[in-house]
Amino acid sequence: MKIVLLGPPGSGKGTQAHLICEKYNLPHISTGDIFRANIANQTELGKKAKEYMDQGALVPDELTISIVVDRLNQPDCKKGFVFDGFPRNLAQAKELDKMVELDKAIMIYLDDEEIINRLSKRRMCKVCGNPTHMDWLVNDKCEKCGGEVYQRDDDAPETIKARLIKQKLPQDVIDFYKEKGIYEQITSTDNKEKTFVLVDEILKKI
Ligand code: ADP
Ligand code: ZN
Repeated sequence: MKIVLLGPPGSGKGTQAHLICEKYNLPHISTGDIFRANIANQTELGKKAKEYMDQGALVPDELTISIVVDRLNQPDCKKGFVFDGFPRNLAQAKELDKMVELDKAIMIYLDDEEIINRLSKRRMCKVCGNPTHMDWLVNDKCEKCGGEVYQRDDDAPETIKARLIKQKLPQDVIDFYKEKGIYEQITSTDNKEKTFVLVDEILKKI
């Protein structure tokens, strides 16, 4: 199963990626997570990526594509994978297309007002990486593993607005996957299990 999840930040695509990977035992490839790990480890790549991420901008394609190539070359990707946050533009989509043949590109859609509302309440688990939501926490801790949670730097309100403007998924990416006949779209609900039922209906047809 070779899948990419498309969708605006806050649409819940990270959460859906986790659910798919759990059920189908696939590697979850989040370019955002890879950048954040590099920032935490203070690598050269992390330093470069942070400049862009702090401004709500996309990291340049060169850097992004190089980490994707490295990741795809690891043996666990042979059985399939779920991309979360990649591709974000046509150049990235075309690069990926040279490397693998995707089964589906699934858009997890959400409108702008809901996005701002959700992102300002988003929290991340320090322990298991689960993207969660203030309302889902149990005693202020991750509802999955009990780990401590934090708010991402780029989930500050000003950065959220910048990300929505600078990072709108270009229509040409959607058209690219439509032309290949692998594009699917669902609307995100505020219940992750219900949303997953919609996603899984698509996966079961693969
Ligand atoms: P979001 O929840 O906003 O979708 P991600 O965790 O996917 O966030 O990404 C965080 C940041 O990392 C983005 O705002 C962007 O700066 C950078 N980034 C992640 N994936 C890509 C990509 N495919 N191309 C360029 N920049 C990326
Ligand atoms: Zn956790």
